[in-house]
Amino acid sequence: MLPNPDFQEHVASYYSATRNDTTTYPALSGNTKVDTCVIGGGLAGVGTALPLAKAGKSVALIEAARIGYGASGRNGGQVIYGWAAEMSAIAHDIGIQAAQSLWNWSVEAVELIDAQVHQYGINCDWQRGYAHAAVRPRHLKELQEWQQEARAIYGYDGYQLWDQAQLQQALSSDRYVGALFDHDSGHIHPLNYLLGLSRAAQAAGATLYEHTPMHDILPHQGGYRVFTPQGYIDAQNVVVAVNAFTQSLKPALLRPLQAKILPVGTYIIATEPLGEQAQALIRNNMAVCDTRFVLDYYRLSGDGRLLFGGKVNYAGREPTQEQLIAGMRRDMLKVFPQLTEAKIDFAWGGDVDITMNRAPHFGRLAPNLYFMQGFSGHGVAATGLGGLVTAEAILGDDSRLRVFELLHHRNFPGGPYLRLPSQWLGVGYYRLKDLLP
Ligand SMILES: Cc1cc2nc3c(=O)[nH]c(=O)nc-3n(C[C@H](O)[C@H](O)[C@H](O)COP(=O)(O)OP(=O)(O)OC[C@H]3O[C@@H](n4cnc5c(N)ncnc54)[C@H](O)[C@@H]3O)c2cc1C
Repeated sequence: MLPNPDFQEHVASYYSATRNDTTTYPALSGNTKVDTCVIGGGLAGVGTALPLAKAGKSVALIEAARIGYGASGRNGGQVIYGWAAEMSAIAHDIGIQAAQSLWNWSVEAVELIDAQVHQYGINCDWQRGYAHAAVRPRHLKELQEWQQEARAIYGYDGYQLWDQAQLQQALSSDRYVGALFDHDSGHIHPLNYLLGLSRAAQAAGATLYEHTPMHDILPHQGGYRVFTPQGYIDAQNVVVAVNAFTQSLKPALLRPLQAKILPVGTYIIATEPLGEQAQALIRNNMAVCDTRFVLDYYRLSGDGRLLFGGKVNYAGREPTQEQLIAGMRRDMLKVFPQLTEAKIDFAWGGDVDITMNRAPHFGRLAPNLYFMQGFSGHGVAATGLGGLVTAEAILGDDSRLRVFELLHHRNFPGGPYLRLPSQWLGVGYYRLKDLLP
């Protein structure tokens, strides 16, 4: 089960231990009226509130716990072009032209982070460079095919295909047969980035509330009334941006969102600062993901730790801290056996909001009731774009949102109780596929 987000602090992690902003926002007390109420204080919610406030709209954002309590304050920090679904699958679903738009907007999503880091002076260790590392020869062939497709169909020329020797000039590991390197994608301290964006949203006029869970939403005078423990918000527009927490929402109006999402746990460990050894591990300071279905993802932090993520948990039962550290350390040593002596300082996890086809699920449940979910583990950059596109729709131009609404999303089979067993079967199949040469 998901943790109840009400009234909790940031989870203990490398990120919360190194957050560089101690701003707290008050809980809503009393009633208020705004143009737009945003529910959820992650990158998607704040990414919606900021452009709306900049456009002069009155915005209230409510967060059940702390800004960055969810995935946005816990993730691997990898800022990557594209979407979690393969572009060929997206093109098959909505046609080449619409798929080209989605690809271009994913590129815009990364550039949006770069622009906002500079515009708002956010100190968050933003760094370019990313490698998709192939574990098997057939994966490298697939990466090469994607490089060609990206150039021919999507007009993207930023990839370099590296063989094993080229990769090893940058990465001190013999686990891979090569990689697709992208110098535009990169990595970031996501919590510090989000806290900086939140400051910018507040400065632009948005009102942010922490420890303010939405308990219900009802239609009210052509808009909506959003109920919280100590007051309500009347809003013309409502944006639901609660990611994997969708499953814990009670309002009947939001129930259609739940069957489209499966919350899946994923985990990260952070070593102690590695000093000079850090640079020797990843010489060009790029982020790395491997090509397996249950993938490893890792990078160096600003203070020279290895942040190593991976594993998935579809069962909903959390491992103990000891189990987590032991399992993740084993995986880390497969990539970097030279780290046997490195101490693990932090271990944590969080849920990603997977859709059946891994494509993003943005849209409207009813007039003026917007939602964003289904980032499927690929949301650090995509959330900002989702927020922008949703804000544009609220401001009167829904042309980009309508393209996202073309994507077809099936319900997970089996309802709330059989969803997990059916997923286990699916994951078992993909784990087997990972083992094939
Ligand atoms: C461990 C981990 C590693 C990841 N690594 C990467 C990565 O390297 N690169 C990448 O691109 N993506 C990664 N992701 C995915 C990425 O973090 C997410 O896609 C993204 O942060 C989603 O942002 P969000 O704003 O939609 O959701 P969240 O950040 O989860 O925000 C939702 C917020 O809604 C709040 N909320 C819930 N219920 C209510 C309520 N009733 N009322 C008010 N507020 C409520 C929650 O408290 C939460 O703060 C990772 C995710 C995890 C968990």
